[in-house]
Amino acid sequence: MTSNATHDDLAPIRESVRALCANFPGEYWRRLDRERAYPEEFVAALTKAGFLAALIPEEYGGSGLTMTAAAAIMEEIQASGCNGAACHAQMYTMGTLLRHGGTEQKKRYLPAIARGELRLQAFGVTEPTSGTDTLSLRTTAVRDGDHYVVNGQKIWTSRAEHSDLMLLLARTTPREQAKSRTAGLTVFLVDMRTAKNKGLTIRPIRTMMNHATTEVFFENLRVPAEAVIGKEGEGFRYILSGMNAERILIAAECIGDAKWFIQKATAYAGERVVFGRPIGQNQGVQFPIARAYIGMRAAELMVREAAALYEAGRDCGAEANMAKHLAAEASWAAADMCVQTHGGFGFAEEFDIERKFRETRLYTVAPISTNLVLSYIAEHVLGLPRSY
Ligand SMILES: Cc1cc2nc3c(=O)[nH]c(=O)nc-3n(C[C@H](O)[C@H](O)[C@H](O)COP(=O)(O)OP(=O)(O)OC[C@H]3O[C@@H](n4cnc5c(N)ncnc54)[C@H](O)[C@@H]3O)c2cc1C
Repeated sequence: MTSNATHDDLAPIRESVRALCANFPGEYWRRLDRERAYPEEFVAALTKAGFLAALIPEEYGGSGLTMTAAAAIMEEIQASGCNGAACHAQMYTMGTLLRHGGTEQKKRYLPAIARGELRLQAFGVTEPTSGTDTLSLRTTAVRDGDHYVVNGQKIWTSRAEHSDLMLLLARTTPREQAKSRTAGLTVFLVDMRTAKNKGLTIRPIRTMMNHATTEVFFENLRVPAEAVIGKEGEGFRYILSGMNAERILIAAECIGDAKWFIQKATAYAGERVVFGRPIGQNQGVQFPIARAYIGMRAAELMVREAAALYEAGRDCGAEANMAKHLAAEASWAAADMCVQTHGGFGFAEEFDIERKFRETRLYTVAPISTNLVLSYIAEHVLGLPRSY
């Protein structure tokens, strides 16, 4: 597959990611998928190579790369057939600490995160009853001397079992007493190494793909007051400010997935002979592949635009949302096309297509669902009335 996308100045980074990923072929992911096991070796290799510290500034020991470079890393991981969902949060969750944390907190945590000694992979926002309506979350943190006492439950807290730290959003002021609709929520950097069995319980949730997601229960968990990031009550704003990075990077992963599906389908359509000719000679087979390619390229341009705005320090809320939306739709369309192109073999484990198909399905739902992206564009870009 030829595309401008591979001819940019990030070619050396792309090549080294690809070289690393070549050590983790389909058999590796298939075995883990069967066992629902965590890709420890893969995550360790990415960490050791410094890829997961791409966005940590050099002064804190990271690589200080741009969002465009970080997006290229995530894209190449997916385009190589690997699964960055096992560790993508290590790249962007630290952004909340970087932008809103105190000097001491940053010095204490960021260099250790950059060295891979501390894993900040868990992001505890979603709850079973509040869902997308984050402002109605029910987990509370009540001040008690130099601690807060946390009670409540999170759901879909991915990688909690494979992380040392969790960025937790909890309510510190009851909703009816908060000074505004969005005030009263606070972000904590919870050290799960000391919290486990002292009020923090993690239970894995088995899902249709291998995603290491969990539900997390807090029962009178005592969290030191110095774990608060920024100001008490301002947490919702801090979490929102990190979401653009998350959306851009996950959009880049979807672009990588789409490229993988398109490459697989193209290769197969060229070699599979039925009725005495390659199936790819039939327009009925070619056109869906071409359509998927066009969709991927259009989404890729939006990802680049969002990343460029992000690194220029400009508002990129609309572009980050649109990039995530277009890229998630493009990867899902490419996945469906790839199964169809392979006929029965699309369903066979050893082709990896059914696994990637299950994995990429997530992204029209998480980290934000399609409807909520559409609501954002309707309200904030088009000026239509707020619908919820
Ligand atoms: C595998 C996986 C991993 C995840 N990892 C994390 C994580 O690490 N940390 C974390 O905090 N969360 C995580 N999530 C949660 C994820 O962000 C949410 O599932 C997602 O935002 C949707 O929320 P919900 O599941 O509560 O759906 P709901 O909010 O219950 O919505 C259900 C459906 O209704 C639609 N809907 C709801 N309200 C409206 C409305 N007003 N208008 C139109 N449509 C509406 C939604 O679009 C959706 O399709 C993960 C989820 C999954 C499945």
